[in-house]
Amino acid sequence: MINKTEETIFSKIIRKEIPVNIIYQDKLVTAFYDKYPKTPVHVLIVTNKIIPTINDITTDDEIIIGRLFTVAKNIAQSHGISESGYRLIINCNSHGGQEIFHLHVHLLGGRSLGPLVVS
Ligand code: AMP
Repeated sequence: MINKTEETIFSKIIRKEIPVNIIYQDKLVTAFYDKYPKTPVHVLIVTNKIIPTINDITTDDEIIIGRLFTVAKNIAQSHGISESGYRLIINCNSHGGQEIFHLHVHLLGGRSLGPLVVS
């Protein structure tokens, strides 16, 4: 059983204890490049607060969740992929393929992703 209450590597990244290229940070969210990019643009937008999964979101978090999307939109724009298009993905728990239990949005783009393929 995975312990979903502990800090993940993302907390260290947010606190800048691990050197990564932080694209954007404010008091609610932090964005940085995925270490193992699946597409030419692959950015993770992470909540600064430890929210392990989508299942753990409460109404108190609605401002944070909204910020994830406005930041994703702005990063898509700054990376020149707004018009060509992109995909936002949030994985949840094991069937959703979630590996790191700290809520994050994947911003994927920079090439045609085709239709959503689920394996
Ligand atoms: P998920 O499967 O939705 O939990 O996604 C976790 C993502 O974190 C994967 O795409 C990993 O490639 C990425 N990842 C893991 N470790 C790091 C790291 N140290 N820095 C940046 N991205 C990471």
